Amino acid sequence: MSAVATDHLIRPHGGELVDRTGPRPGDVESLEVVTLTSREVSDLDMIASGALSPLEGFMGRDDYERVVEEMRLASGLPWSLPVCLAVPSAPQGDRVALADENGRLLAVLEVEETFEYDKDREAERCFRTTDDAHPGVARLYKQHPLYLAGRVTVFERPEKPFPELALDPADTRRTFAERGWRRVVGFQTRNPIHRAHEYLTKGALETVDGLLIHPLVGETKSDDVPAATRVECYSVLVENYYPADRVLVSAFPAAMRYAGPREAIWHAICRKNYGCSHFIVGRDHAGVGSYYGTYDAQLIFDEFEGHELDIEPMFFEHAFFCRVCGQMATPKTCPHGGDDHVFLSGTKVRELLSEGKLPPAEFSRPEVAEILIEAYRTA
Ligand SMILES: [Zn+2]
Repeated sequence: MSAVATDHLIRPHGGELVDRTGPRPGDVESLEVVTLTSREVSDLDMIASGALSPLEGFMGRDDYERVVEEMRLASGLPWSLPVCLAVPSAPQGDRVALADENGRLLAVLEVEETFEYDKDREAERCFRTTDDAHPGVARLYKQHPLYLAGRVTVFERPEKPFPELALDPADTRRTFAERGWRRVVGFQTRNPIHRAHEYLTKGALETVDGLLIHPLVGETKSDDVPAATRVECYSVLVENYYPADRVLVSAFPAAMRYAGPREAIWHAICRKNYGCSHFIVGRDHAGVGSYYGTYDAQLIFDEFEGHELDIEPMFFEHAFFCRVCGQMATPKTCPHGGDDHVFLSGTKVRELLSEGKLPPAEFSRPEVAEILIEAYRTA
């Protein structure tokens, strides 16, 4: 593939796109093996690809402490969530092999340090709760008691659930450049896209050159719609309702942490590494249950100076179809009351779909709803 200049795009976080892929060392079989959880494998893969630039490995104590307390790396660069590897005990050697839960060797880690951490404090600071009914907190409390830090070299990338959508930051950047896009808005989602989110993404796209629909395909809660079904929904939606030359659909390999506000910042930083200049932040971004205030994920951006994050957050309200306006709108743009709005709760939508009924066309595109009905039918 010929080189395409990508200099006009936003710079990666910290200035350079990290690449921690490399050849498989000859002695890897002889190293002590550390087994990663699926969330840690997702993080490892994102370190490898540069999606977590400037991180070159799992965080050491200095970075960890400052991230938890101040949402900054030791260097002062904004960073909102720990990216750590939990282990039961300190390894013996100065290098260890990292494997997935099936025992497949993925990477080598150069051991820098092993340190203790306070789970309650991490939960309270990062998730704003120590309630273990919160899925992110529950996972944290189940973790091993030490963190192992060090630079990684990844020689085996995890298998991609959607190979056709697996684009690394270098790939999305090249695609943006080939298409002549300079300003690109990223859209994070872990749900099927109904009319409301279609409206937000198109509203954002009106002001920039391109839209990256970047569904999260890493681990999610078991009651979220499975990624395979969502991916089908995205393809049929884009095919029928978006201009092909303005939209790129690609998989975001992260696992959900459900850390709400802090995860919104983290998601934005990752998308900056993928080449996005703008990032859509809706209400209760990356939230779960009622742990976060409706606007917390938007307000947290005020804790940084705009130039520090560089990527521009675009804040949106919930959208709906208004019968009086005769179009999609939000409380920002429609003066009418709830009775004029086509609103369906998540529970109501699930009920309709599981009964094989199409939700109103003002709520969901029929092509998308049909895929969801089929998924319910075969579930
Ligand atoms: Zn209205």
